[in-house]
Amino acid sequence: MTAKWQKPPPNMRKDTILSHAGRSPERFDGAVNVPVIRASTILFPDVESHEDRGDRFSGVRYGRSGTTTRFALEETLAQLEGAARVCAVGSGLAAVVVAMLAFCRGGDHVLVADNVYGPTRSFCLGRLQRMGVEIEFYDPELGGAIERLLRDSTRLVYCESPGSLTFEMQDIPAIAAAAHARSIPVLADNTWATPYFFRPFDKGIDVSIHAATKYIVGHADVMLGTIGATPEHWRTIRQTAADYGYTASPDDCYLALRGLRTLAPRLRTQQASALEVARWLERRPEVARVRYPALASDAGHALWRRDMSGAASLFGVELRPFPDAAVKAAINSLHFFGHGSSWGGFESLVTYPKPEQLRTATIWRGGPLLRLHIGLEDPADLIGDLEAALALLHATV
Ligand SMILES: *Cc1c(COP(=O)(O)O)cnc(C)c1O
Repeated sequence: MTAKWQKPPPNMRKDTILSHAGRSPERFDGAVNVPVIRASTILFPDVESHEDRGDRFSGVRYGRSGTTTRFALEETLAQLEGAARVCAVGSGLAAVVVAMLAFCRGGDHVLVADNVYGPTRSFCLGRLQRMGVEIEFYDPELGGAIERLLRDSTRLVYCESPGSLTFEMQDIPAIAAAAHARSIPVLADNTWATPYFFRPFDKGIDVSIHAATKYIVGHADVMLGTIGATPEHWRTIRQTAADYGYTASPDDCYLALRGLRTLAPRLRTQQASALEVARWLERRPEVARVRYPALASDAGHALWRRDMSGAASLFGVELRPFPDAAVKAAINSLHFFGHGSSWGGFESLVTYPKPEQLRTATIWRGGPLLRLHIGLEDPADLIGDLEAALALLHATV
């Protein structure tokens, strides 16, 4: 009698998907994880089977279109997020670029949230605009009033909710309803919300972008992006990635899938610590406002509660007016917050962004802004570190 491997049942809950999706022990000597399969050439047993490779985007056929390692990551993410399928590419920015190029041509009009990730904004202004695409930035908080900005030539609406510097929440269902009434697809960068805390396709998003570099990888050691889409838009996205030659390395896909396995407990711990630190900061006299949708005091809190099931551990801290040199000295005194781009890893980070330089449709009126990423350290150590730093703000410089 030959023993049979049990396949995971359909309708797994999301923590179970994270443990069980995308695995094939029956194919890999019982190994729990799909191994790294490095390949450019894929061999077929004869000329007929090589000629008859079937659908271009299914099955292993050539290294650039993916080996089983990459497919395992894409499949797991698609199940978690509810996408028809997912396409992995070499960075989060590449995912943004592929998703936009899939839809835009010269003469089109594109609506982009004014709080988008800086390099997304640069791509729109530097590349899309040069291709003859008209870029219009919109107030991320306008909700259904986006209807007034839609034109016959509008090809897509691009959202990022919350924005990763200033954390405005967008009313995605209202924006999607207005766009869909005119058959315009809605694209969203969901890196902050993660595929664990947000089900984009249930809220009207057609194309969901993640910088997997952040929480999915989770360990600050891989660049990777993913694009998930509805059945209607999936092939356009996948074809565009193929046409431009975008691919993703099997080693990086392996590490991303490994990161994904522990996404839930990392996020839960980081969310709890971020809330603790954010609530502590809110009560400090040096702080004007904490920009974190998970806080009841945040302008986007009601939308966040309605649409998402949790919060990432990245938020903004608006200080009361202090001299720039004092703010920099305070930041430089931190022990546990590294200075560096990116977020979503196990370690805490701080940046000192200047949002006023990165928007045109709205005006940034906030005070000096710090962006904190809360890692897996003990939050009491992080609070102690911040307490000493805030004290420095009062020192005469
Ligand atoms: C980091 C980031 C990206 C780009 O991802 P990379 O992997 O760094 O290219 C895109 N969007 C958001 C919101 C990000 O934070």
